[in-house]
Amino acid sequence: MPELPEVEVVRRGLERWVAHRTVAEVEVLHPRAVRRHVAGADDFAHRLKGHHIGTPRRRGKYLWLPLEETNESVLAHLGMSGQLLVQPHETPDEKHLRIRVRFADSLGTELRFVDQRTFGGLSLHDNTPDGLPDVIAHIARDPLDPLFDDEAFHQALRRRRTTVKRALLDQSLISGVGNIYADEALWRARVHYERPTANLTRPVTAELLGHVRDVMNAALAVGGTSFDSLYVNVNGESGYFDRSLDAYGREGLPCRRCGTPMRRRPWMNRSSYFCPKCQRPPRPSAAGSAARA
Ligand SMILES: [Zn+2]
Repeated sequence: MPELPEVEVVRRGLERWVAHRTVAEVEVLHPRAVRRHVAGADDFAHRLKGHHIGTPRRRGKYLWLPLEETNESVLAHLGMSGQLLVQPHETPDEKHLRIRVRFADSLGTELRFVDQRTFGGLSLHDNTPDGLPDVIAHIARDPLDPLFDDEAFHQALRRRRTTVKRALLDQSLISGVGNIYADEALWRARVHYERPTANLTRPVTAELLGHVRDVMNAALAVGGTSFDSLYVNVNGESGYFDRSLDAYGREGLPCRRCGTPMRRRPWMNRSSYFCPKCQRPPRPSAAGSAARA
């Protein structure tokens, strides 16, 4: 799955190449790509036609295109392999092209949704008063959102009986933090992924959030160098950022801080990578004693 920085790179590309253009025609080449639009492919195409695309928006890993003149948005589900491409008309169709959007202008490009595995797709939704597609109204703000409330996040952590990595991946608490960036931020903060949230101090929460933002901004800075072309896309997990990772995927390699071999442990059908020396596991009694203190 793409993580927040990858999705933001796509959003910026769409803002540059698609925003404020008028939809002339939508062609759905595979019904699965619009299966979340329950009224069907013809309805989807009909309701986009003639509308201006507003400024693309993102919350966490969710990306949507507001339709001006309506209170609706096109939500993009990138799934495992979904790509949004802006291509010249004359570029041959991609093998897995699912949806094509043509525009009523002479810029010579069109928007293409390409998806090999068809887990992703596009769908049209009513907006909430905040301008979110209604189906993602429950998704919390992400840590790069200027309105993200650090203190409210800390208080929510303290109330929960959960562990810190689970909390970082809980989209109702904080959105957009996936497995890779959670491991990176926890390594930087020297916090073990199974540490209970109930006893996190305000400085630890603040440091952790700071590292989450730093790793995302660093990834954005790298990805941001490649979006300045006509071709914008998201390619699953590999991303652009592998070389700058300190924790994720580094099992057996020396910790970049202390040299101890990094470890990997199975975690919720995924993996957690950590340094056993820098990120000490919580003592079994830690949560209970903190709660009593
Ligand atoms: Zn270490």
